[in-house]
Amino acid sequence: MTYDTVIADSHVVLPKGMVNKNILIDEGKIVGLTNNIPSCDNKINGTGLLCIPGPIDTHVHYGVYSPINEAAKTESHAAAIGGITTMMRMLRLKDSFSNSLQAQLDAASENHYVDYAIHASIFNTKQINEMNYCVKKGITSFKIYMNLGGEVGHVYMDMPPNSSNLVAAQVNVTNEIVEQTVKTAASLGCPVLVHAEDYESCGCGIRTAKEKNKDGLSAWSESRSPEYEAKAIKTVSKFGRDHNCVIYFVHIGSERALLQIEEEKKLGTKIFVETCPHYLTLSYEKQEGYLAKVMPPIRTENDRKSVWTALSKNLIDTIGTDHVANQLKLKLDGGNVWGALAGFPGIGTVLPILLNDGINQNKISLEQLVRFTSQNASKIFGMYPQKGTLEKNSDADITMIDLKKEKKVTSDLFGGFSDYVVYEGRNLRGWPVKTIVRGEIVAEDFEVVGKPGYGKLVERTIDLYPR
Ligand SMILES: [Zn+2]
Repeated sequence: MTYDTVIADSHVVLPKGMVNKNILIDEGKIVGLTNNIPSCDNKINGTGLLCIPGPIDTHVHYGVYSPINEAAKTESHAAAIGGITTMMRMLRLKDSFSNSLQAQLDAASENHYVDYAIHASIFNTKQINEMNYCVKKGITSFKIYMNLGGEVGHVYMDMPPNSSNLVAAQVNVTNEIVEQTVKTAASLGCPVLVHAEDYESCGCGIRTAKEKNKDGLSAWSESRSPEYEAKAIKTVSKFGRDHNCVIYFVHIGSERALLQIEEEKKLGTKIFVETCPHYLTLSYEKQEGYLAKVMPPIRTENDRKSVWTALSKNLIDTIGTDHVANQLKLKLDGGNVWGALAGFPGIGTVLPILLNDGINQNKISLEQLVRFTSQNASKIFGMYPQKGTLEKNSDADITMIDLKKEKKVTSDLFGGFSDYVVYEGRNLRGWPVKTIVRGEIVAEDFEVVGKPGYGKLVERTIDLYPR
């Protein structure tokens, strides 16, 4: 028989090590890794390149500052150029899911270049009662924002499709909401993603810093101390233990938070940990201006190093970008750090950052890179073995990497909604050169060659990961 595609002569990086094999692809699936080259319609030359299972970005905000029918196009475009084959959206709806989810799903289904999955954010009791409805719609993970409430309860929700108006809301994610969400998720067999910052402490910290007329990223970090992360981690980990729920901490970037998580693991909570590229690359000690304002804040050089150490020891499971598709005019509206918008784009740069700072500087191994960028996420979120592996019958999601390729980062490289990147001008060594989703090349050499609407909502299974 004749197969669709073979990727010949590349180094294939698997979680257990590297092999020099050809990758056979047929009907969007991996057929196998071979030494010979059978008859194929397309041959992709992989000489000198690495092939990794397609990276999964576990943490992406899009559809907030532009509607999902547009944001899916722009942000999955950036994803494709950055070598990401699956992006996981942090859906935030103001309204009930039964009223507004279907329109979001329909608009999303027509506009992605790469595959995607969705985490649903839960803000109130009404939404807790609809978690079962979400599961039926294929959304099998839930997010809670312990940072939102009281005087810091303001948040922008996702826009309805085809709209252009920001959807501002005021929410109170009380400990009661947190516990009920955890309890309900456990009963459904779903993990809960937690933004762990105690909102009352943060509200107080910000008020105090403003009264003292402090400014800058150091003041931002000081106003939201790592102690407030630890406090929230303690609270929700207890709920996780009590209700036997898997807790997934998003965007962990401080030494204090990492230590608290190790404590909670010892007490028996089933925990997974995500960090973001900015906690590996930036600190307020070295970063000027307000562009790198984010929640939780970037911390000290010591914290940055401790995140690398935790990663090298496999104490962190995944790397998500916390990508926020926003623009400068909104971002810097306030004139000081308090007025600036939190969050920045990162989906295009995560892989080259990990290649440049991690692989090419020997901080993590290629096998670790594969586990952190795809395999662990796939298992935690019920996508294994469809995603996150190159086993027979898995989706042929493959990113081809040139570890020697050098390029300067610019925001227009990615074609996303944002008109800036925090890494503007940084020269990185190690870039994706081909992004393959289910056997089709979606991007190559910084050009998207796929079509919007090709990307599919990933079908997920529940509770696959052993507890
Ligand atoms: Zn986020």
